[in-house]
Amino acid sequence: MGRSSKDKRDIYYRLAKEEGWRARSAFKLLQLDHQFNLFSGVNRAVDLCAAPGSWSQALSRKLRSPSTEEVKIVAVDLQAMAPLPGVTQIQGDITKVSTAQEIIRHFEGQPANLVVCDGAPDVTGLHDVDEYIQAQLLLAVSTEVLSFIFRGKDVTLLYSQLKIFFSSVTCAKPRSSRNSSIEAFVVCQNYSPPEGYIPNMSNPLLDQSYDVDFNQLEGPNRVIVPFLACGDLSAFDSDRTYPLQLDASKEYEYIPPTQPPIRPPYEQACHFRKHNLLSREDAPPVINDLGFTCVSL
Ligand code: SAM
Repeated sequence: MGRSSKDKRDIYYRLAKEEGWRARSAFKLLQLDHQFNLFSGVNRAVDLCAAPGSWSQALSRKLRSPSTEEVKIVAVDLQAMAPLPGVTQIQGDITKVSTAQEIIRHFEGQPANLVVCDGAPDVTGLHDVDEYIQAQLLLAVSTEVLSFIFRGKDVTLLYSQLKIFFSSVTCAKPRSSRNSSIEAFVVCQNYSPPEGYIPNMSNPLLDQSYDVDFNQLEGPNRVIVPFLACGDLSAFDSDRTYPLQLDASKEYEYIPPTQPPIRPPYEQACHFRKHNLLSREDAPPVINDLGFTCVSL
């Protein structure tokens, strides 16, 4: 394949190079801004999951001109990123309270007016796990923001949770996002949390410890129902079929249930079958323990 073949196939890939964007993703944010007017009046912006930095670039180019003085942009990623004019970088995990505190410190306690999040944690290949982790990433950052964008898949539960905090929640797919990809962006605007709501970033799955006692939460703070997925990827998959011998060095041996059911309903069916009563029209009706009359078929 020639060096230009990707350029031929993907116009945004080519344009990104021509216009000096670090990634073609820049066009997604620019198109979302065009549709939703996201950048208007913004002077404190956060870019979560920012590396390699094309969204930060877009923020830097669009928000900082003509006046650069009052605009603060913070970019966060697990990975290091090459510097950008007017962008402060934090190398950290967006799900950690300490990262949120660092962002807030940078804004001197003022809330951000725009939070964008192109959060795509390392893909596990397991659809449900990916989706859950992405949802958690989003919820971890959502409580402190006015509007943000998140990259996600089928996020129905997330929408209802977001509607608690934002009066406008829209799922958008910019033109530069390939049709063949299920990628979409959630645009949340007009941050209006329930009265008395105190932001917290507690995340039972990711933190592995609760820093909030959920039983102590009152009023609107009880609205958020924590969801905990139990077990990790080392556990057996309940939807998979495994071989009879998990340990190849041992022979399979049937082990009966520790406590078989006491008089199960299928006992009657077994009784009928054993005595060849299932097909006989003159089989006597049997009243079982629950008072149901069973007749032969
Ligand atoms: N928007 C970026 C751009 O335009 O250049 C591309 C973002 S890339 C698709 C996703 C990024 O999310 C990766 O760089 C990855 O390191 C980062 N990431 C994933 N999980 C993260 C986490 N928990 N905290 C911070 N960054 C994370």
